[in-house]
Amino acid sequence: MKNILEKKCVLCNESFELETSFLTCPKCGEEGILDFVYDYDFIKDHYLKSVSESPRPDIWRYSALLPVTEAKFFTKTLIGPTPLIKSERLSSYTGIRNLYIKDDGRLPTASYKDRASALAIGSAKSLGINLICAASTGNAAASLAGLTAPEGIRSVIFVPASAPPAKLAQLATFGALVHAVDGTYDDAFALSLKASSKFGWYLRSTAVNPVLSEGKKTGAFEMAEQTGYGNLPETVFVSVGDGCIIGGIAKGFIDLYSAGIIKNMPRVIGVQAEGSCVIHDAFHLGTEKITVKEPTTRADSISVGFPRDYIKALRNVKTTGGTYVKVTDEEIFKSSYLLGSYEGVFAEPAGATAFAGVLKALETGIIDKNTSCGVFITGNGLKDVAGSSMAAPAAVKIPRGEAALDVIENLFKTK
Ligand SMILES: *Cc1c(COP(=O)(O)O)cnc(C)c1O
Ligand SMILES: [Zn+2]
Repeated sequence: MKNILEKKCVLCNESFELETSFLTCPKCGEEGILDFVYDYDFIKDHYLKSVSESPRPDIWRYSALLPVTEAKFFTKTLIGPTPLIKSERLSSYTGIRNLYIKDDGRLPTASYKDRASALAIGSAKSLGINLICAASTGNAAASLAGLTAPEGIRSVIFVPASAPPAKLAQLATFGALVHAVDGTYDDAFALSLKASSKFGWYLRSTAVNPVLSEGKKTGAFEMAEQTGYGNLPETVFVSVGDGCIIGGIAKGFIDLYSAGIIKNMPRVIGVQAEGSCVIHDAFHLGTEKITVKEPTTRADSISVGFPRDYIKALRNVKTTGGTYVKVTDEEIFKSSYLLGSYEGVFAEPAGATAFAGVLKALETGIIDKNTSCGVFITGNGLKDVAGSSMAAPAAVKIPRGEAALDVIENLFKTK
C-alpha cells in the first residue's frame, strides 16, 4: 500500500525515505522525532473501503492510516475496539449535554499503550526482529511484554523501581526481562536509549520511535467510526505525560479531516497534573522550547520531567484549535471516584485525569454546558488500586454476627 509519502523531522523539517532504518533524525539527534506524512488523496479513496472490508475487528482495520499495512505483520492479539459509553449520569452531574467516555482501560493489558505497542511489534516483525526493549513508567512496558508474549518476541524493560506493584507483576508474568532502575522514569528512558544503541536492540520507547504515535491515532479513528463520522464530540480530553497519546489522537483527527472523511474536527484538550505540566506551560507561553522540571504528581503514568513527544503534542493540539489545562492530584482522585461511582468505570489516576480536565474546562469557561465532550480513559484502576481509590470512602467496620445489624440500622438512620 502506498499510503505514506515520506518521514519528516519535526525540528529541521528534513524529509527521509520511508525505508531508512534510523529512528530519529541523524542531524538533530534524539529530539529530532520523525513524523509520517500521508498521501491524503490516496487515503480519501481507500480508507473507508479498507475499514469495512478488513477481516479483523480491531485497530488493524485502520491500516490505511498506519505505517504497518501488511496483514502478516499485524499482532496476534486483537487490540480494540473499546466501548464509547454515553454517560447519562455524568451528563447530569456536570450539566454537559453529551458526555462520552472511551474506556481504554479495557484493552488487553489495560492501558492505552496497547495501541502503540501493536505498531512497534508490527514494525519489528516487518524487520525480522525478535527482541524489543523499552523504557516505561509501567504501562508501556506491561503492554509491550503482554503483546510480545504470543509472538515469541523477547521484551527487555527499564522501569523506575517505584512503579506500582500491579504493573511490575504484569511485566514479570508476561515473561519480560525487567530492569528496575534506581531512579526516575527519565533515568529509565536515558538507559533505554543507551542500551538499544550499544546492543542494537529495537526500541519501543515513546516518541523516539515514530510508529508509536501513529498507533495512538487509532483511538481517534475508533471514536470517529463509533459516532458515525458526522457526530464527533466538539471537544476531546486526553491526559498527558510524554505527549505521545495526545499528539497521536490529535493527528488521527487531523488525518481524517485532511482526507475529507470527517467535516468537523474536535478540539483536542490536553490535561496535565500540576506537578508534571511541562507541555501545558510551554503551550501557554506559546513556545516550542520546553523547561524540564522534576515531576511530583501521584499519577505515575503521567509523571514526566522531560516529556519526549512535546513537539507533536504542542503542534497537533494547536492545529485542532485545542488547548491545555492542569489539575491537582486531589482533583484527579475525585475524578477517579466520580467515574467509578457514576459510571462503573475504574481508572488509575492518570487514566482519570482527562475527566478532571473536563471539570476544570467547565469551571474556567473553556467549554460551556451546551456541548459534547469525549473523554479518553487511558488506564485501568486495577493497575494502581491504592492511587485509584484515594477519594473513595473506606469500608464500614462492623462486628461479627447479629450485633452488626444494629450498627447497620443506625448507620442507615443517620444517612
Ligand atoms: C502513558 C499514559 C498516559 C500519558 O501518555 P503520554 O503519551 O505519555 O502523554 C496517560 N495515562 C496512562 C494511563 C498512561 O499509561
Ligand atoms: Zn532534523
